[in-house]
Amino acid sequence: MTQETHMDAEPGIVIVGSGLAAVSVLDGLKDASYAGRVTMIGEEPHYPYDRPPLSKDVLLKTGAESTILLREQETYEGQDVTLLRGRAVTALDPSLRCVMLDNGDTIDYGRLVLATGSRPKVLPLLSPATPGVFYLRTLDDALALRVAMKRASSLIVIGGGVIGLEVAAVAVQRGIATTVIEAGPRLMARTAPPLLSHVLQQAHSAHGVAIRCNTYPVGFEYGNDSHTVTLSDDTTLVADLIVVGIGVTPEITLAQSAGIDCGAMGIAVDGLGRTSADGVFAAGEVAYAFNDISGRHEKHESWHHAAAHGRHVGHALVDAHAGYAEICGYWSDQYDLNINVFGSTQGDDLAVRGDPDTRRFAIYHLAAGAIIGITCVNDPKELRIGKRLVKARAVIAREMLEDTNASLPPAGLKAA
Ligand SMILES: Cc1cc2nc3c(=O)[nH]c(=O)nc-3n(C[C@H](O)[C@H](O)[C@H](O)COP(=O)(O)OP(=O)(O)OC[C@H]3O[C@@H](n4cnc5c(N)ncnc54)[C@H](O)[C@@H]3O)c2cc1C
Repeated sequence: MTQETHMDAEPGIVIVGSGLAAVSVLDGLKDASYAGRVTMIGEEPHYPYDRPPLSKDVLLKTGAESTILLREQETYEGQDVTLLRGRAVTALDPSLRCVMLDNGDTIDYGRLVLATGSRPKVLPLLSPATPGVFYLRTLDDALALRVAMKRASSLIVIGGGVIGLEVAAVAVQRGIATTVIEAGPRLMARTAPPLLSHVLQQAHSAHGVAIRCNTYPVGFEYGNDSHTVTLSDDTTLVADLIVVGIGVTPEITLAQSAGIDCGAMGIAVDGLGRTSADGVFAAGEVAYAFNDISGRHEKHESWHHAAAHGRHVGHALVDAHAGYAEICGYWSDQYDLNINVFGSTQGDDLAVRGDPDTRRFAIYHLAAGAIIGITCVNDPKELRIGKRLVKARAVIAREMLEDTNASLPPAGLKAA
């Protein structure tokens, strides 16, 4: 393992962004015993915090935001990290190895990590500046939405993906009449198998959320503190608030203007997090990262990937020990449903273990007979076993996977 030390005058490592990936880069640097200077620049005014609670507890309970910091504040000083909060990087010059800030300052770097995450996709017909319209990405977004929910009696959620559904679950629990509009034929269609979409639809309907699939907004009007939304099926809905959750796009502006290889999937990086510009790395959700396991570039929008990739890139900045090799997953909490997905859901077959009506079951995703992923609802034990089977790409007969009397993994099968 190589270790680098930096003279005070020597530019150190600069991280753009102060989200989970950025903080995980610090963990990776620590793993690799890096003792040099680090400057982390984040445009948000807050100390780095965790985003998953924003669509769950923070919307539900006043004060929940006090427990979402990713690290204690002192730990930044302990690791010789200068954290610039409320400061955006406006330009990057890889040839001069420096970044420009929104206050006109310039900071030199030895190596730079872009950990700029994603921004919510904006509906072209609906200005985010319209009163009562919310997108949910930051703590400030969540706090503003929570306040607005206090006065609201009705809400339209546009987008039946993870964030939209989590917001709908909170809203209806807060007594707000909630409708979810989903353009596709079913909920969470991008990542969930049809069975999970069905279970989610049942759960939301049982709690009183109106689900409208196969339709999308074609017109918006705002007046008298109220929104009228015209849908593609010629119906109209009226509500106090609108939350838009139609996905995110990677924040590649800096990389793009610096001529770094990037696109709709993010900033292309190799297995060590290196971009096409010498000395510039990218980590977390913004990275279109090469994964040694799949042998291709992948885009992930999950906590797991941001943490694992950030840490990996932090380590690789100091010591190019190995390529990124991570099987990723995500979770979602809606009502009493704790949903965990690990690995790929894009198989050619699946096996259902347990009874979905009991709200405790697992779906094993299979490709050419091998287990490549698991979707698990309310069953942490099955999830633990399933993860091992996914890592091993275990081949187990579908009948056995579906037989809850047969214990997994079967005797003699080597799971990772
Ligand atoms: C509401 C919500 C709920 C979620 N729930 C879950 C969940 O339940 N399970 C799950 O697996 N995942 C969940 N996620 C996803 C997970 O939180 C993200 O994948 C993760 O936060 C990505 O981390 P990141 O550091 O790569 O990017 P981000 O968290 O987006 O951080 C990037 C940071 O960089 C800053 N930045 C961007 N450009 C600049 C610039 N030019 N200068 C300075 N700073 C800049 C941004 O302001 C931001 O603070 C959720 C996300 C959200 C928004």
